[in-house]
Amino acid sequence: MSDSTPSFESVLAAVRAAGDAASLRALEREQLGKEGPIAALLASIPTLPPESRKEAGQRANRMKSELAAAVAERLQQLEEAQLAAERSGAGFDATLPAARVERGSLHPLTQVTRELEDLFTSMGYTVLDGPEVELDWYNFEALNIPRDHPARDMQDTFRCDPAGNVVLRPHTSPVQVRAMERMRPPFRAIAPGKVFRQESTDASHEHTFHQMEGLVVGKDISVGHLIGAMKTLLRGVFGREIEIRLRPGYFPFVEPGFELDARCPFCKSGCRVCKQSTWIELLPCGMVHPNVLRAGNIDPAEWSGFAFGLGLSRLVMLRHGIDDVRHLLSGDVRFLEQFR
Ligand SMILES: [Zn+2]
Repeated sequence: MSDSTPSFESVLAAVRAAGDAASLRALEREQLGKEGPIAALLASIPTLPPESRKEAGQRANRMKSELAAAVAERLQQLEEAQLAAERSGAGFDATLPAARVERGSLHPLTQVTRELEDLFTSMGYTVLDGPEVELDWYNFEALNIPRDHPARDMQDTFRCDPAGNVVLRPHTSPVQVRAMERMRPPFRAIAPGKVFRQESTDASHEHTFHQMEGLVVGKDISVGHLIGAMKTLLRGVFGREIEIRLRPGYFPFVEPGFELDARCPFCKSGCRVCKQSTWIELLPCGMVHPNVLRAGNIDPAEWSGFAFGLGLSRLVMLRHGIDDVRHLLSGDVRFLEQFR
């Protein structure tokens, strides 16, 4: 014990002479840490003769508090010295760049959604919202997809109850019916939002993705109106005229139904994105089926309309050349910070 006293004095001297906070902290860890000499001293007390244990314990604790106090005192001195130096201008360089502030940004999906909302509201459309947990009636029945309809198998729907009366919506189309319940024709509406499908995920499939439904109901609405709206949409997204074509497509809630293809914006003669065809399958659309109008309490003899279901996730991928849909909801900052 007695031979540790001189070395303790030299430790105290080293603390008082420490030149900066980092070396002081290192010294503190070395001396007061779990592996330090004072910890060892305390640990050895039970091995001492009983009559000397009390004194040894008191001594070790005194050393501990004395050392801690010396560290705190020296730290304060160092901080004050640094502050004084900064105030006097020494060691302070006003031309050094400031600490970088990380700035957030809007998600590319949010950016595209907002642009499209601006575009469509400028054409007189209303922006609607609908529940993500939806009733079977809105999701299927009212969209002309009855219980026994084979089209129900086309979508792998997440069911929320055993009977399947409540589902996570696999498309934004139920908002069509909700829109017709709330608004009297003529009207135009879009409904962007999340949809869910029970899929094994890969580069082009994700269980959660974004769509935007569009619905226009009025007098004598025709396929020509539909084509006009789609061309305006593409011009808004890609900033120039994009050629489109309609192919017949089957969807129970439209008649006639179409697959709308857009001329590949990335190539002239075929590329990876368009699978060498120069056309990109962009969205299903068509004239609203009379049964759907009826489900929304609208008389198909008096009114007609068109509807489309735009894949927002897909559009964002096309626009930015993103090759894996899973990036979109990954929350990976390295991906997101590319869209500032
Ligand atoms: Zn192409």
